[in-house]
Amino acid sequence: MVGYVCKYTPVEIIEAFGEKPVRIESGCKSYERAEALLHTNTCSFVKGVLENIIENNIEEVILTSCCDSIKRLYDVLKERLKFIYILDLPRKKDTFAVDVFYKEIIKFIDAYKAFKNKGFAIENFLKILEDKSSFRKMQEPSESIAILGARLKDDVVEKIKNSCSVNIINFTCTGEDRIFNIESEDNLLKGYAASLLNLTPCMRMAEDRSKFFNKDFKGIIYNTIKFCDYYSYEYAEMKSQFNIPFLKIETDYTDSNSGQILTRIAAFFEATDIKKMEQKKAKKGYFAGIDSGSTSTNVVIIDENKNIISYSIIPTGPKALESAFKAFEIALNNAGIKEKDITSIVATGYGRVSIPFADKMVTEITCHGKGAFFIDNRVRTVIDIGGQDSKVIRLDESGNVIDFVMNDKCSAGTGRFLEVMSRTLGISINEMAKVHAEVKENITITSMCTVFAESEVISLIAQNKDQRDIIHALNKSVASKAVSLVDRIGRKGKYMMTGGVAKNQGVVSAIESKLGEKLVIPAEPQIIGALGAALIAFEGTNG
Ligand code: SF4
Ligand code: SF4
Repeated sequence: MVGYVCKYTPVEIIEAFGEKPVRIESGCKSYERAEALLHTNTCSFVKGVLENIIENNIEEVILTSCCDSIKRLYDVLKERLKFIYILDLPRKKDTFAVDVFYKEIIKFIDAYKAFKNKGFAIENFLKILEDKSSFRKMQEPSESIAILGARLKDDVVEKIKNSCSVNIINFTCTGEDRIFNIESEDNLLKGYAASLLNLTPCMRMAEDRSKFFNKDFKGIIYNTIKFCDYYSYEYAEMKSQFNIPFLKIETDYTDSNSGQILTRIAAFFEATDIKKMEQKKAKKGYFAGIDSGSTSTNVVIIDENKNIISYSIIPTGPKALESAFKAFEIALNNAGIKEKDITSIVATGYGRVSIPFADKMVTEITCHGKGAFFIDNRVRTVIDIGGQDSKVIRLDESGNVIDFVMNDKCSAGTGRFLEVMSRTLGISINEMAKVHAEVKENITITSMCTVFAESEVISLIAQNKDQRDIIHALNKSVASKAVSLVDRIGRKGKYMMTGGVAKNQGVVSAIESKLGEKLVIPAEPQIIGALGAALIAFEGTNG
């Protein structure tokens, strides 16, 4: 087994040696072992690859001179593996570059021959190329979404493919477009080197990549990763060149944020109208939306005239499905109707996948946008601060989601942040939410991070600072985080605040003061997502 990561790797040569090339995965549970060998600031892709090499006991690896991080990986592996080789990969594909790469491939063949102590059969190699070329089709479907940027975990790519009705073309380092144009068998290896350099160029190549993607994509998903500047630069460049829906995501290769990433992608599909809800025949009756959030589960039931006839809000607790059943039952009882009276149910929120009795799942981004616009159609920006994340959603004049940003990597600026701080202050979250009047001393909490901010609060308590002043400082911290999200998509009123934190007067005042504008606060801000889901259930049957 020979591990590799780059699409420019001569995998057909490895096959011709009778060995099995294996693309090394980058997904892992943690970077504990990799960070013992590499600097923690090494990109998460390289750390993930190293974790997989260790985990799967891969003993032979071939790399390309992609970037400094890959070269550091090579430095670590050269002391540890039975066989490790790094190919010098040109950045161009002109005659000189082809010659350089051809010579590199010859050198690799010689090194591997010596290591394996076996010959290289050119006939095997020719047969492998012929077999692969016969599978060449590359039909361009009319509607496609392109994935660009850093490699995404395979399971995420699979889920994207399964969740969308259009074709997904993955242009990352995976090498899906492996096509060979070998013109002459006389100089087979040179033709092979030229074919490899002719693959759709990756961002490391010196070509203007935008011209390769200048087609009618319905949208582009661009993946950037932590500690990789290359993709961040290219993202900015690409975004300026394409006037089509563009979603930037930042992943690492652990499972920690897969759920949120998939939520963003699903919301992107919904916003770009890529996957439409099946239209059923118009029916009468009641329509339910269930928002299964990390902190609370909320249900809204509307009638066929879109009147809210009941709602419920309960803590989610450890079992999302049980809470969904319970909240649904309470809302049914409040409305005085039975489950059979409900025509359609739409589930949203993080726990939406765990609600089997829902007819449809829709992301909370679309649902919050829908619910907010229904309550007040002047709203163009929704600031939703929930228990575990916060998001800002931009709506157009018709209430469609046209952009959104999320803070989903840490609890800074969320309900969780306030909860931790209320415990540190020794008061309940409800008492804390009532503090919003004038302050004696204008304190500032400098750290956004919950852990460091907690230390600051402990130190302020030790300095005998007034509790109300500390709470005011915490509210300002949450407001700063929310307004920095607003600034990422640009300011545009009217603003509505949704989610449980909208009940906190102090946070609301702090955001209003930073924005210089009054926020619209719905009577029950926690049910806006569920309301949007109920409206989508209604439209799905009556739209
Ligand atoms: S960025 Fe290019 S050179 Fe680097 S691993 Fe990906 S395909 Fe290979
Ligand atoms: S993600 Fe960036 S830094 Fe990491 S290997 Fe790829 S190009 Fe290099």
